[in-house]
Amino acid sequence: MKRVLNFIDGQFEPPCSGRYLPDVNPATGQVIAELAESGAEDVDAAVAAASRAFDAWRRTPAEERSRLLIRVAERIEENFEELAQLESEDSGKPIALARRIDVPRAVRNFRFFATAILHVETPAHMTDDRALNYTIRQPLGVAGLISPWNLPLYLLTWKVAPAIAAGNCCVAKPSELTPLTADRLAALIAEAGIPPGVVNIVHGPGASAGRALTSHPKVPLISFTGGTKTGADVMAHAGPLFKKVSLELGGKNPNIVFADADLDQAVPTSIQSSFANQGEICLCGSRLFVEKPIYDEFLGRFLEGTKKLRIGDPLDASTDVGALVSDAHRGKVEGYVALAREEGGEILIGGKRPRNLPERIQNGYFLEPTVIAGLDCGRRVMQEEIFGPVVTVTPFGSTEEAIAYANSTRYGLSASVWTRDLQKAHRVAAAIDSGTVWVNTWLLRDLRVPFGGMKESGVGREGGFDSLDFFTEAKNVCVKL
Ligand code: NAD
Repeated sequence: MKRVLNFIDGQFEPPCSGRYLPDVNPATGQVIAELAESGAEDVDAAVAAASRAFDAWRRTPAEERSRLLIRVAERIEENFEELAQLESEDSGKPIALARRIDVPRAVRNFRFFATAILHVETPAHMTDDRALNYTIRQPLGVAGLISPWNLPLYLLTWKVAPAIAAGNCCVAKPSELTPLTADRLAALIAEAGIPPGVVNIVHGPGASAGRALTSHPKVPLISFTGGTKTGADVMAHAGPLFKKVSLELGGKNPNIVFADADLDQAVPTSIQSSFANQGEICLCGSRLFVEKPIYDEFLGRFLEGTKKLRIGDPLDASTDVGALVSDAHRGKVEGYVALAREEGGEILIGGKRPRNLPERIQNGYFLEPTVIAGLDCGRRVMQEEIFGPVVTVTPFGSTEEAIAYANSTRYGLSASVWTRDLQKAHRVAAAIDSGTVWVNTWLLRDLRVPFGGMKESGVGREGGFDSLDFFTEAKNVCVKL
């Protein structure tokens, strides 16, 4: 059985506890590996290695750091298919999605930040003829990076690349549910020639390994992506130590379709935004709001398209909907389907475990794409993040009503707006409380733009120079003239 070890100071190390956790393939229910069950001692060793490597790494010229990061991108490209397969087997996601989104994005993350650091500028301020102020930006030291299971390699590299590009060393703690691509990345990082200690990866549960990182006194910065409740715990431990913290948290994103929308685009993209990765993307549009005059037509076409989604073996390239990440998570999602019924909702399609699955995946954690109508915005199903293949659909009567519905949750991560009326699109985009608004599209990502959430969807922004700002500290030098 494959054992996923920690990667500390350039070496693969067993956990101090000597214990391992099972790693399950959600499509089959089989244990496919075991991973280090790490705790505070392992995190201590990783932080010590990162601290030792920091001085030489921060002094490494930007061009050299850039060259090494590009080599990591190339190593990921050379191992593209293996990584796509590992990601699919570990998380249950369709391999087509891993090939189209997860692995290409990991490559882009390294290339993007490798080149971004060659274009950094810092300001200077003249104080009349009395002084010259100039700003320098310096890495902080050891960055703590904590990532979730839904886009494992994509989100891990979204943190590792800018952290080390900016001159920090890092200790990363990937999700204990999906450790395989992080483990492979560690080897590729070593092969690329990144010096030992610059990137360290510690596996294990959030409550032990994760919290050891957020409360470690020698880790001055935490970049966390995960659930809102966990984000509060991260903040509670990092806050008293005055760490710099970036939190990318949950969402309950509205998808607003106006009567003048181009339905040939709005319908298929809304099916994607509802069910891609089994709805396990923080940016999925889980609340559909459709303007009354087209409600019936839109819904008819949306249901028809959803029924055509192929649920099946994630390793089959034609599969659209794979398995949910764990049995416990599927149970949680099914709990929300039951709650929707109690709250007076109508399950239009889905809500059940699919039958007649191929032999290999009969014990997998599958759930049909589910569409629920008839719920008020205040209901729990309309308020809480479900993070599964479940979407609610609600008619609206006016632009003001659509905005009020969109803003009626405590989340504010992303939104989509579908209309041919540009003025309306700009007005609605400005009025929605979310860090990202897509107009007539979904999930189109330019890595330069600020990314993050409002309200309980997060704190801070990452992306482009926002990431490089986060992973460095500004210092002003004032010289009297
Ligand atoms: P999670 O919060 O359970 O876990 C995320 C990571 O935090 C894991 O590595 C976990 O081990 C670790 N962790 C758990 N408890 C911890 C603690 N007390 N201290 C430190 N670390 C701890 O989230 P998840 O279930 O892995 O991921 C799903 C969630 O992530 C959803 O809510 C989703 O919306 C969110 N998400 C947000 C974004 C974004 O960019 N905003 C992107 C992807 C996922």
